[in-house]
Amino acid sequence: MRSSRQRQFQAVLLLLSLIGLILILVLPSCQAGSGNDDGGGKPDASENANASVPPPSPSPSAAATPTKAPEPVFADAVWMAVGDVMMHKPQLPGSFDKANNRYNFDPFFAEVKPILEQGDWVIANLETPIAGAEFGYSGYPLFNAPAELAEALKTAGFNLITNANNHSLDQGESGVLGTLANLKALGLPSVGTAVSREEADKLLLVEKNGIVMGLLAYTYGTNGIPIPEGKPYLVNLIDEQKIKNDIAKLRQAGADFITVSLHFGTEYQTTPSEEQKRLARSLIASGADIIAGSHPHVVQPYEVVEATDGNGRTREGLIIYSMGNFISNQRGDTKDYGVIFKVGVRKNMSDGTIAFTEIESIPTWVHRYKPDHAFRYRVLPIEDTIAAKSDTMLSQADYASLQKNFDLLRNRLESMK
Ligand SMILES: [Zn+2]
Repeated sequence: MRSSRQRQFQAVLLLLSLIGLILILVLPSCQAGSGNDDGGGKPDASENANASVPPPSPSPSAAATPTKAPEPVFADAVWMAVGDVMMHKPQLPGSFDKANNRYNFDPFFAEVKPILEQGDWVIANLETPIAGAEFGYSGYPLFNAPAELAEALKTAGFNLITNANNHSLDQGESGVLGTLANLKALGLPSVGTAVSREEADKLLLVEKNGIVMGLLAYTYGTNGIPIPEGKPYLVNLIDEQKIKNDIAKLRQAGADFITVSLHFGTEYQTTPSEEQKRLARSLIASGADIIAGSHPHVVQPYEVVEATDGNGRTREGLIIYSMGNFISNQRGDTKDYGVIFKVGVRKNMSDGTIAFTEIESIPTWVHRYKPDHAFRYRVLPIEDTIAAKSDTMLSQADYASLQKNFDLLRNRLESMK
């Protein structure tokens, strides 16, 4: 049987060399079809894979293109987050723009803007109400910052705000409402506080490049200020079971990966507490992908842990225990340092799995200086600042201290790896 077929085949080749050429072109695609062992070797596996590929991605059509088995198609996006955005009283006078009779905080973030602009999801923890001028502006212990602060965050590249923290209720319920109104007016989505039960139950899902992130935010407490009776929706408190339920809801709603912002830990501790570790790891095991921690006002380490999904698939979870102060008037003992986290998020469009392609921590320093009667502030990316060595506003002593603290923070950040 086989030899007679070969004879026929050779006869055809001899008669029509042109057809032979066509056969050479067709053969590889047949081999590719049989060689596809992706997903148990079902003949239609490649078609199923292609079905989940969104239109903008190049779609390898196994039927038409003479190539090997279809590669999984990936989508990539960049996740970024920073720690606490604070507004102490000394930060105000130097930021007032008399000519326009308003505050301008853009200089705070101008030096890190080129970095933040590389992010797709760029998250800041706003640890102060921006309730409005009618509340009066105040610093510690009951904060209220000008709404221009959020405007500056937006200008710098932030597009997501978490605002569940121990200062959420500094201006009471009306402060929460005023803050949310100001954020909404700026078109800045936020999570962690809400004006109603209905709003608190809304899920925040943000799609970038075909990848959907779900975002949640909770705080350990509100500095002893009671949450008004019957209105627990105003501020999300850490409640492990509720967080796990919210994670499940986000998954059901189509989140590819989930970030949980936790305002937790012990102030000024450079290592996470046992409770921070237990809670963060438990949430990763329950379906969270990234824990974005803040509150201790100093940078704490991060770790990557493994979790197993219900279907037995292992995945990585990233726990950032504390990103320190992104901007504040706090000085000394590394309270004037923070970190920008930059995480490459890759989605395998064939099976929907998520992986981190890179985890980069970018330490920052709040440079405070006094050119006249009032302080000015700039968040500087330390490594770039040291490398350029061209910042005329920094002294040799500044550079020496930056190098020393950069090494210290780098060691601290990596100490749980
Ligand atoms: Zn705090």
